[in-house]
Amino acid sequence: MAVASPSDPYRQLPSIDDLLRTESGALWLNRFPRSVVVEELRGALAEARRAIAGGREPAAVNAVADRRLRRLEQSSLRPVINATGVVLHTNLGRAPLPRSAIEAIAQTAGGYSNLEYDLSAGRRGRRDVHAGTWLERLLGAPALVVNNNAAAIFLILNELSAGGETLVSRGELVEIGDGFRIPEILEKSGAVLREVGATNRTRIEDYRAAFDPERTRLILRVHPSNFRISGFTGRPEVAELVGLGRELGVPVVDDLGSGLLYQPLKGPSNDPPEDSLAESSSSALREEPTPRRALAAGVDLVSFSGDKLLGGPQAGIITGRAELLARLRQNPLFRALRADKLVYAALEAVLRDYVLERYDDIPVLQMLRVPADELRRRAEGWAAAIGSAAQVVPGRGLLGGGSTPGQTLSSWLVAISPGPGTTSAALERTLRAGEPAVLARIEGDRLLLDPRTVFDAQSEPLVQAVRAALSSEESGPVG
Ligand SMILES: *Cc1c(COP(=O)(O)O)cnc(C)c1O
Repeated sequence: MAVASPSDPYRQLPSIDDLLRTESGALWLNRFPRSVVVEELRGALAEARRAIAGGREPAAVNAVADRRLRRLEQSSLRPVINATGVVLHTNLGRAPLPRSAIEAIAQTAGGYSNLEYDLSAGRRGRRDVHAGTWLERLLGAPALVVNNNAAAIFLILNELSAGGETLVSRGELVEIGDGFRIPEILEKSGAVLREVGATNRTRIEDYRAAFDPERTRLILRVHPSNFRISGFTGRPEVAELVGLGRELGVPVVDDLGSGLLYQPLKGPSNDPPEDSLAESSSSALREEPTPRRALAAGVDLVSFSGDKLLGGPQAGIITGRAELLARLRQNPLFRALRADKLVYAALEAVLRDYVLERYDDIPVLQMLRVPADELRRRAEGWAAAIGSAAQVVPGRGLLGGGSTPGQTLSSWLVAISPGPGTTSAALERTLRAGEPAVLARIEGDRLLLDPRTVFDAQSEPLVQAVRAALSSEESGPVG
């Protein structure tokens, strides 16, 4: 064993007992269990020893321990300011919920509820009645809810196609992001993928040619969501597929992805009402297929997400023919993929907002409906408060979240040109590391901030964060 010299830096480190006897030690013990304090002190001492071993000066153990203990009280899931202009940003948690949904969650979370209890009959009930009646009212067909749309597709494929073939166009064998690939979900569900047509073009005759009376169980149509093929392209209209499905006796399932419910609710033709949609987003939404339109075309089952254009909590919604839904409900996977009571509480509240046409209470819709001159006014306010580095420019936001790609939202942005000695990338990093974290876009050497996705109450903190970042970049080193 090496004999430590008096100047041995390891020897300079305080002991746990020393630390517990300090003034901070007393404060920690007041606030946290002793075992937790000791554990974090050990961690802080280990950090110091690692620094010494690496030839660096260790930070004050006391301060490190204090930081570690305080971090235990903080949530790892932190709010961020989304100034990217991407309304449904999957990495930022997709749809912010309306106030009604937040209140419903708060009311349900801390106590008991009639989640699966029929209060009038005094016996077990079904959890899907809560959102079900609202969904049926909005969609004109019964529906059921599972954990997310990936789960919805998995359940449908397992129930209707396991052991047999599902026909899918080669142009629709997409990956939706973060590991959701149609071919892989199909395989795991027990269904066999039968690819149809070519990547860029699939005709109705291709489906007919791929049909095998012994093996074909399902025709699946998938919204290509996050990519677009251009040039010599085509796929059959949904009505053509429905006609073929009827003729061949196999159900047609449409995975719509986003599930736009915003519509005048006046029967099958459901173009978003133009008068109530901002110019900037009406064309983007007009391209988006709706569940009602798919049902009106005769699709047997339609599935979509709860937290995309619908603007609600994470959920997968399946609607369509009652006898098929009854089969899905009987499948043991339905139990495994079921949605939580907080999701039902939130979903029911959002759906009620739709029925009562409280569209401006739904943040996703509010962001899509905000008029361009309102965005411009907000951008001008920010720019004036930020100062000479900021300039208001026209630009584009995105729907995001697997909605029709290439559809942008015209917006007014604040462009920040960082001063000499720094870069837009360094500024972006500083803002992202701040408290609150601000997420922006970079385009060339400019940082872009889009007011569309920033809540009013966040304007002030955003401006402060940008001002602080600009002044620290000026005085500090280039990051
Ligand atoms: C987003 C999307 C999914 C996955 O939905 P989640 O709710 O994220 O599970 C599936 N299919 C399509 C077409 C999508 O756009």
